[in-house]
Amino acid sequence: MEEYLDYPVQYWTEYVLEHYPLNFSESLGMVKELDLPQLMRIANFLTSRQVGNTVTYAVSYNINYSNYCAASCPICAFYVPIKLKGKTNGGYELSIEDVKKDLEKARDLGATEIHIVGGFNPDLPLEYYEDVFRTVKEYLPGVTLKALTIPEIDFIASTSGNSIRDVIERFKAAGMDAHTGGGAEIFDPEVRKQITTKEKISGEKWLEDAKIIHSLGVPGNSTMTYGHVEKIDQIIDHIIKIRDNQREIPGFLSFIPLKFSPDNTPLQKMGKVKLPASGETDLKVIALARIIGGQDLTNISVYWVSLGKEISQVALNGGGNDLVGTAFSEKIFGATDRKEGTTIEELNNLIRQIGKIPAQRDTFYQIKRYG
Ligand code: SF4
Repeated sequence: MEEYLDYPVQYWTEYVLEHYPLNFSESLGMVKELDLPQLMRIANFLTSRQVGNTVTYAVSYNINYSNYCAASCPICAFYVPIKLKGKTNGGYELSIEDVKKDLEKARDLGATEIHIVGGFNPDLPLEYYEDVFRTVKEYLPGVTLKALTIPEIDFIASTSGNSIRDVIERFKAAGMDAHTGGGAEIFDPEVRKQITTKEKISGEKWLEDAKIIHSLGVPGNSTMTYGHVEKIDQIIDHIIKIRDNQREIPGFLSFIPLKFSPDNTPLQKMGKVKLPASGETDLKVIALARIIGGQDLTNISVYWVSLGKEISQVALNGGGNDLVGTAFSEKIFGATDRKEGTTIEELNNLIRQIGKIPAQRDTFYQIKRYG
């Protein structure tokens, strides 16, 4: 009986090893045939083979420079419409002095990575970002600067009348080391239409921009926001597109599935999403990411801020090998009422509790020290 139960796991494990990269219909066939524990066992086996028993995280500090935004994505609880600037409370733009105050906090907390993202703010010129980036590097010369999502970079390029190439060259000169990989959402155009607005670039453009940015020597993460109106087909399609982009022009440091948090978002107010995705979906997404993309996307990150700490621990035994980071001062998920914080010690303990080895890493996934 035990052998019979194990057979599909053995069959699909061998199939993945022999036939990687799986195409869409193979991936969908596998998902239909296997249940969650089976997918997780395959994913866990592949994770151990690829990265061993270590779970990494970065000591990162988040700076969200402005919440004014020219887009108004139904999945977002963070933005204040730019047209309401000066007419409402709650909107902000950080000055360079504000950024310096944040950097002092980041220094006190021992951050090795500064993560910067914000809204599409047409009032901020390209020079603003250069000033912010230079300030980061002047104040904290040892840190790595992971800045902006790909749609933000595209927005800055189009509003400033520059090419992506020119913007990246200028940002590199100002201190940018990596992009954050955000804004990928779900590439499928029909789903994307429901969760973003026309101001945000298409999935195709996101992938094209990523190739340009990577070819200029600026790597970054890749993401997927799930748990809203998408189906499993669109999740598989998204993972395959990220993986194939990586095979063409490498530059993704990790793949980070982001669980949509509906609280305070227009999508929830419209009644389109009532609850967050189930823990089962969270675990399935991480397992699929490892199985479908893991040989090209070595680091499958489990973002504890969006999944919660306990489900994250389970996901680290089903395909994940990284907890992203401490995310000190995070505000984007915070706007949806997910306000949990953490400490380095807590992340180490969460990892040790599940029998894995904690390690602090840098932005480029090089281990700095074991926890
Ligand atoms: S997700 Fe980004 S682009 Fe969309 S409204 Fe929020 S801040 Fe603006």
